[in-house]
Amino acid sequence: MPDLKNTNEILSFAHCGLCVEDVENGVGESPRDYARLEIGWTELGLQVWCVRHECNVMHIDFEGAKHPADTTRIHFQKPRAVK
Ligand SMILES: [Zn+2]
Repeated sequence: MPDLKNTNEILSFAHCGLCVEDVENGVGESPRDYARLEIGWTELGLQVWCVRHECNVMHIDFEGAKHPADTTRIHFQKPRAVK
């Protein structure tokens, strides 16, 4: 995995258009806070699904190709509770 990183490298976010409309109409604070997205594998590739509106956001067809993926995460240690 030469160029893959497990940090947030997102350049442009994928949003449900209906959720964006809701936020623009004053429902929710931001698309990030309002979004309820599921992401999963399909027979063809990868799909992003809006749970709030039960609609497709994006369905990517890998056309049979296999792509490298990094499924690791940065070790996160919760701060200790102060007694
Ligand atoms: Zn939505």
